[in-house]
Parts: sequence; C-alpha cells; structure tokens
Amino acid sequence: MNDGHSEDNIDDVAEFYAAIDRQHLTKALSKTRPYTYWTIELYDKANGIRGGGGLGVLAADTRRVAERMNVPLVVVTPFYPSEQHQFTKIHHENGFSLENHTDSIAVDYAAYGFKFLNTVMIHCNSGIVSLDVIEKKLGSTRIISVTEPGFGELYSGESGSDHRLYQEVALGFGGYQALKLCGLKPSIMQLNEVATFFSALARLDELVASGMDFYEAVVYTRKHTLYTNHTLVQAAEATFSYEQFERYVFPNLSSPAVKKWLSDKFENGKLMLSSVTIEIAELRSGVSKLHARVANYHDLAGKKVKFKAVTNGIDMPTWTARNILAYFERQGIIDKFYLPTEDYKTAIDTVKAEDIKTLKASGRRELNTVLARRPDQYGNFLNIPEDALLFEFKRRFVDYKRPWLPFTHPEAMKDILERNNAHYIFAGRVHEGDNRMMERLTALLKLIDSDEILKARVHYLPDYDEELGRALSIGSNISINTPIVGLEACGTSWMKDIANLGLLVSTHDGGVADASSDSYLCVYGDNETEEIDVLYSRMSEAASAWNNDTSLEYLIKTELKAYLPVISGTRMLKDYLDLLF
Ligand SMILES: *Cc1c(COP(=O)(O)O)cnc(C)c1O
Repeated sequence: MNDGHSEDNIDDVAEFYAAIDRQHLTKALSKTRPYTYWTIELYDKANGIRGGGGLGVLAADTRRVAERMNVPLVVVTPFYPSEQHQFTKIHHENGFSLENHTDSIAVDYAAYGFKFLNTVMIHCNSGIVSLDVIEKKLGSTRIISVTEPGFGELYSGESGSDHRLYQEVALGFGGYQALKLCGLKPSIMQLNEVATFFSALARLDELVASGMDFYEAVVYTRKHTLYTNHTLVQAAEATFSYEQFERYVFPNLSSPAVKKWLSDKFENGKLMLSSVTIEIAELRSGVSKLHARVANYHDLAGKKVKFKAVTNGIDMPTWTARNILAYFERQGIIDKFYLPTEDYKTAIDTVKAEDIKTLKASGRRELNTVLARRPDQYGNFLNIPEDALLFEFKRRFVDYKRPWLPFTHPEAMKDILERNNAHYIFAGRVHEGDNRMMERLTALLKLIDSDEILKARVHYLPDYDEELGRALSIGSNISINTPIVGLEACGTSWMKDIANLGLLVSTHDGGVADASSDSYLCVYGDNETEEIDVLYSRMSEAASAWNNDTSLEYLIKTELKAYLPVISGTRMLKDYLDLLF
C-alpha cells in the first residue's frame, strides 16, 4: 500500500474546480472553512486506523480523493487505541479442529505521524473524560482525532450500549471542540451514518449558546449538514434510552432550548439516532441509486424520507495496479483527475485482450508477493501459478453477502475449478460475537478440508484487510459478489475488481445496479436455487472468456464502459460538491 500520502496531487484546487465547472467553490471552501467529514470508522491503516468494512473504506477514499484534488477537507474520527486481528488455523491432531480467536493489538498514534495538540473535556456518566486531540496533516486534508486509553475498539460493545454512546458522544462533542481548537469552522458537515449525529448537535448547541435564535440555529445547522445513510432498514437500528441521554448527552449541552428540543424527540423513553439526524440534516444521501430509492426511512412526523443518490466511488490510485492506471491514462480512458475522459467509450474500444492478459500477469505476481506473507487456513503461504485462473470472494463474512453460495453444490464447484485449472480464494472476517456466521465459516472450512480437490484449489485467507483486498483485486481474474438482492447498500469491492480488469460475476444489487444488468455477468433468479444455477454457469462462462480473446475483450470493455464513471472517486466527490453547494 502507499504510505498514507499521495505524491501526484493537483497543484491548485482551482484547476480541479475549473475542470468540473464549479469555479464558485474557491469561495465556499477554504483551509479555515473546510469540508468536514465525520465518521466513527475510517479504514486507513497507512495512517494507523483500521476499520471494519465499506463505511470506513468510503471515508478513507473520500479523504484521499480530496487530497489528490487539493480540496480542503477534514476527517474527524476516533483514534482507537487498539484494533482487532483475526487468527484462524486448522489443526488435525484429533480429526478436524478449528482454532479461531480475535486478538487485540495496541496502536500508537505517534508511530503513524499523528501529533498531540491538546485535550478537550466531555461530560460522561456524572464524571468528566479528558480526550486527547491529535492531528495528522495530509496535503490539503487532515485527520483530526479524539482518543484516550479507555476509548475501546471500533464497534466494541453492543450497539445501543453505554460504551457505544460514549464513543459517539466523544466523537461528536469532543471532535467539535477539537475543530475549534484547530481554529477551523466547518463549511459543511457530512455525517457518515448516524453515529456522528452528536457533532451536528454540538454545532447547534454552540450556535444557540452564543446567542443565535433557536429556530435560526436549527435552520442554519440543517442547511449545512448532510446525512449519508448506508443502512436500508430503519427498524434494524438500535435505540438509546432517555436515561442514557441523561448520563451521556444532556450534560454536554449548554442550551436549555436544545436540550428541550432533543428531549421532545423521544418516544416512549426511546430514541433512534436516525430520527434526530433526519431532523438536523436537510441534505440526505444514499450510497447508490438503488439504495437511495429503496431505503425505507420516516421522519418523526411519519413522512417518508427522500434520499439523493451519490453512489460510492473508489480512490483509483489506491486500489488500481500502477501499470493498469498508467495504461488507462495512456489510452486516454481517464484524465489526470481520474475522471473518465470525454470520449472514454471510444478510448476503451482500443483495449486489447493481449494487454489485459499482460497487465493481469503482472498483477498475479504482485498478488503472490502479498500471499507470501499472509498465511491461509493451514498456516501455509500460497503461490497461485501464473497459468492458473483465480476466482475470489473477499468481503466481510456476513449473512446477506452469502459467501457460501458457490459451495452449495461442491461437485459443480470442483468441476469448474478442475476443468479450468482454477483456484478460488475467499477472505473475510466474521464479526466478533457472530456465532452463526462462525459456524458457517467452520462448516465451509471443514467441507474444503474433507475433499482433496477442494483442498488443493480453495483457500481461505484470515484477517481480511485493505492489503488483501487490493492484492486480490489486482491478481485475480474473476470476482464473485452475491449479496441477496436488496440488501447491499453499494459495496465497493467489486469496483476495485473492475478497475483492475477483472470479470465480475454478481447479483444485481447495490452500486452494481447503477448500470444495466447486461453490463457484467449477472446472477439472477426468482429464488436462491435458480440463482445458484446461474452462478455456476456464469462462473464457467467467465472462466471460458479468459481462454477466448474475443469474449474477454468484449466483457471487459462492456464492464469498463458501464462502470468507469461509477467507480471514479473523483466523480463521487464532484457529486457531493454538487449536492452540498
Ligand atoms: C474495499 C473493502 C471493503 C468494502 O467492502 P464492500 O463489502 O464491498 O463494501 C471492506 N473491507 C476491505 C478491507 C476493503 O478493502
């Protein structure tokens, strides 16, 4: 991975604003009035912060894109003093047994170049907690974090628990004070999910406490706050009780009017943060076209909430092999802003199967250097032969993503792998405490262990992280993405695969559904049984394409034409700027 810093930034942000025809932004945003981005999770290990999934990857990519374009953006996020790592290993002393544990590892912010600035205080549970404010500057952007030794880990404790509320209150009230400490006033506040609600509340409270009329302050805060939703179903959200707010939230408010306003939002002594986030943010976005359309949220008056779609994008240089990115630039497919060129479709037509294969062969070598330090489920280090095909499935090991789907009929899977001299790598961490998914993973590993062919060709890589995510996208030929249709908000893993000239086999869901279902190898069906049949035929089709230049060229070009504008993180930043200003 990179060292957390990009070297090839646009020199002058005015150049970027001119390229997207938004010259007025030079006035709207400045170093002291930056775009502020609030997130409980940031997935940016190069800068010391490990996340859990897509929400954190999105936050990190948003900052990276802003840095490349020289846009003043500040990410406010906790620095977790320790992080979790998954250890998984199969033993054979007495039959099959699976050793699986999660280890906590301490992380020192100074080792990642963060500087201590000062402390801020928040009220918690009838005491006062002192938070360290730390900062790291990265070009036009910075990461400002609050932390303390007892802060805990990302997503530790149940959602709805005191500890989660503490972390969220610390980020919101502590982070808002931290901004002021740095002499910054937010031009706008983007709330990456509702765990960041308290930052907007802190702003409202400050405005009222400093003399602004309450209603004016509400209007002002609403106008400058964007709530980005990643969740489809409001009912699935945890609630907090009035009693918890009395201990953690109200003591941090100076304005009685704000306290009264917030108290009135409780229903039967309970509150969902989404309901108040909707009240405090006039701008609301979902993370793909489909998600914005189907997210089922209501405000406190019972009215359905409308979300604007800003489909996630990825920071292309972070996730794309260097030589592939250079190839895109050389062929005139993308410009120096990593946006598709005006005639990118014509440029994509110049792509040759031979080039794809050469680029992927070097990607395979890059993957193998990563695999040389990342053990599989037996503690062995893989080397996928250059002449073998590679399928991969990499994402959080959660129910709706259905990582077991290709193993439903082991004989069909074995047949595809053997016929095509193919390997299959899957990677993904089980969420701590998710026993059901741990059982499913164990069953899969046992199935693989029990069969010589599967054992030779299917591999699990524990402790999935950015390094594996990137390497697998670069070094694989075919990626599998099979969320239950309607449950993926966007997903970005598949974008990394397309950016790296892989073939996508996917259900039509999340951001994939931004383009039509004939843009890639679509898995469909009226029920799961039908989907599984289609999945196997799509896997075979994808494998054959790698042996047929005409098909390969056609499929890769079709994917790129449909998704390049979607994938581009710069396009995403442009969309957010359009929504906000
Ligand atoms: C890209 C990436 C993700 C995003 O996952 P989706 O399920 O596609 O949203 C999550 N984790 C890691 C480590 C990644 O690199």
